[in-house]
Amino acid sequence: MYDGIVQDLIDEFGRLPGIGPKSAQRIAFHILQTQSFDVSHLATLLTEVRERVRFCEVCGNITEQTRCSICSDPRRDATLICVVEEPKDVVAIERTRQFRGLYHVLGGAISPIDGIGPDDLSIPALMRRIGEATGEEQIREVIIATDPNLEGEATAAYLSRLLTSIEVPVSRLASGLPVGGDLEFADEVTLGRAFEGRRVVE
Ligand SMILES: [Zn+2]
Repeated sequence: MYDGIVQDLIDEFGRLPGIGPKSAQRIAFHILQTQSFDVSHLATLLTEVRERVRFCEVCGNITEQTRCSICSDPRRDATLICVVEEPKDVVAIERTRQFRGLYHVLGGAISPIDGIGPDDLSIPALMRRIGEATGEEQIREVIIATDPNLEGEATAAYLSRLLTSIEVPVSRLASGLPVGGDLEFADEVTLGRAFEGRRVVE
């Protein structure tokens, strides 16, 4: 334990995801001891990211505008929607360059243990979005790309049932993704193949 504010800083870093007590201590001392480390720049970024970044009104991805760069790109195919859990999954799929449609970010996955049900995610918004897309914009395919773990599978199964019941074509990524992991941790080649080999849900 350190005195006062130093320990407060270590504790605060330790509350961040993926940072254990040792890393928290290392980061705190790096900031303390490295003269060239621009503390005020980091402080400004932390404040501004909260003020400026919001969620796209269409897909839920992060953006500094009302609509994200993908939703406002006229070259993207608006009749294809890829459903993912988090904004970081959008980045992972974009890296594969396999997909030219739009996304829908759920904001998590169904998890009864954590008390997260369909209505806690942006599933109602997805259904509205699909319902409102008529004529030339009618959705041709919804690709479900939730994480290959228990919660992701439960979410995919729920969505598949919901979408096939209103006769929207649904597909899911092919297997081959590391089970139990996060989509973002799959390498580009594996994720790209899973995308190419996606299969229709009957
Ligand atoms: Zn968007």
